[in-house]
Amino acid sequence: MTAIADLFSHNRAWAAEMERTRPGFFSGLVKQQQPKFMWIGCSDSRVPANQITGLEPGEVFVHRNVANVVVHSDLNALSAIQFAVEMLKVEHIMVVGHYGCGGVLAALHGTRIGLADNWIRHIQDVRDRHRVLLEKLAPERRGDALVDLNVIEQVVNVSVSTVMVDAWAKGQKVTVHGWAFGVHDGLLQDLGMSVSSTESLDTLYHAAVARITAARST
Ligand SMILES: [Zn+2]
Repeated sequence: MTAIADLFSHNRAWAAEMERTRPGFFSGLVKQQQPKFMWIGCSDSRVPANQITGLEPGEVFVHRNVANVVVHSDLNALSAIQFAVEMLKVEHIMVVGHYGCGGVLAALHGTRIGLADNWIRHIQDVRDRHRVLLEKLAPERRGDALVDLNVIEQVVNVSVSTVMVDAWAKGQKVTVHGWAFGVHDGLLQDLGMSVSSTESLDTLYHAAVARITAARST
């Protein structure tokens, strides 16, 4: 069991090791952050953005919540996206789900958790939208399929946000990606939903959903 005191001692050791191997690392960070990437992921402790992607402090701008949901009334997520796109000029936004996500499984099975039920309702909307697809799959495959579908729907939500619509209208080069992480093998899967313009969204969406039907039903 890690005690709080251990966290501080780990932190001091990490900072000393960074400064020893990369002199000036922290003074360089103070000057600015210029991340090319924004990560929108689940709060789950098993899915840490930097470690999974090998990115260092200063290289990825992160927003996490339960089940990586982007809702149009969520000023927290939208503010983070706006800052990343308009101020930091990130080139890639990754929406990253993960298999075995508790939020997604609760939505799939209609499990009551508490206050989070209201948040998970957004994923139940995704489940209901794709009910026919999900019911065609074997029951044990529906959880992973809903993880994928939730990512695809959240990529759509990011892509139709005013921030992205305005950025693309101005010709800004920024792509929204949909990925899923395997907690069981540590690997990221690209769900083939990489959106670089408003015009391409519809085609990419239908292709990505069709791929899930094909992949999960075999
Ligand atoms: Zn999760």
